Amino acid sequence: MIAPDLETGIDQLCDLVEGARVIAPFTGAGISTECGIPDFRSPGGIWTMMRPIEFGDFLASREMRDESWRRRFAMEEHFGAAKPGRGHLAISSLYQAGKVPAVITQNIDNLHQVSGIAAEHVVELHGNTTFATCLDCNRRYELAWVREQYESSGGRSPDCACGGYIKTATVSFGQAMPENQMKRAQELAETCDLFLVVGSSLVVWPAAGFPLLAKRNGARLVIINRDPTDFDEIADLVIRHDIGTALAQFIAQ
Ligand SMILES: [Zn+2]
Repeated sequence: MIAPDLETGIDQLCDLVEGARVIAPFTGAGISTECGIPDFRSPGGIWTMMRPIEFGDFLASREMRDESWRRRFAMEEHFGAAKPGRGHLAISSLYQAGKVPAVITQNIDNLHQVSGIAAEHVVELHGNTTFATCLDCNRRYELAWVREQYESSGGRSPDCACGGYIKTATVSFGQAMPENQMKRAQELAETCDLFLVVGSSLVVWPAAGFPLLAKRNGARLVIINRDPTDFDEIADLVIRHDIGTALAQFIAQ
C-alpha cells in the first residue's frame, strides 16, 4: 500500500524494520542524488544527451578508450567530492546493528563503503567507478595514476604492463553482468524477511527480478522512491518521498 503521508509512512516503516530479522536493502541512483551524483538515466541525465560507450566499442577502438577516460575524468568533480547521504548512513546504522548482512546496489559511486559498510558486504551489480582494473590480468589501478598517465601523454589512456586495457571497474553496456554478484543478490533476496528498495525505479535489468523473488519467498517488500514503480502494487509499503528524509530516523547517534 502507498503511505498516505510521510509521517504515517515512517511509522509503518519503523514497525517493519523493528520486526525484521534480516533486511536486504537494494539501492539505486535516488539514494545518491542528495550527495551530488546525478542520475544518469533520468530525463535530462547524461545518458539521454550522450550515448554511452558500449563495451565492444571500448575494446575495438583506442579512440573510444581515450574518450571513455576523458568522460570519466570530467565526472570526477561529482564522484570525487561526494559524501554519503542520510540514506547511506541509515543503512550503515542498520548494518552496524546486525540487521543488514549486505547491501545490494546498482550504484557505482562507492558511497556505501565510505559510509562504513565493509567492501565485501556491498554487492555491486554495476561495478565501481572509483578505481580501475586491467581487463586481462585484473590488476587494480588507482584513478589518480591513470589520470597522470592520460594527461602526461596528451589524452591517451594507458595500458596495463601485461598489454591489457585498463577500464574503470564498472559494468558497461554490452558487458556481462558479474555472475558472483548476481548470485549473492539472489541469495539475499531469497533469505531476507524484509526487502527494502531505496531510490530505484526497478526498471533496469536485472533489478526488476529481485523484489519479486523476495516476495515469493515470503519477505515483506518496502519501496522508498520519489517516482512510482511497477512493483508498488505488490509492495507492503510504498513511500513516495525524499529518501534522506524518510530514512534519517534510522541513523544511529
Ligand atoms: Zn594486465
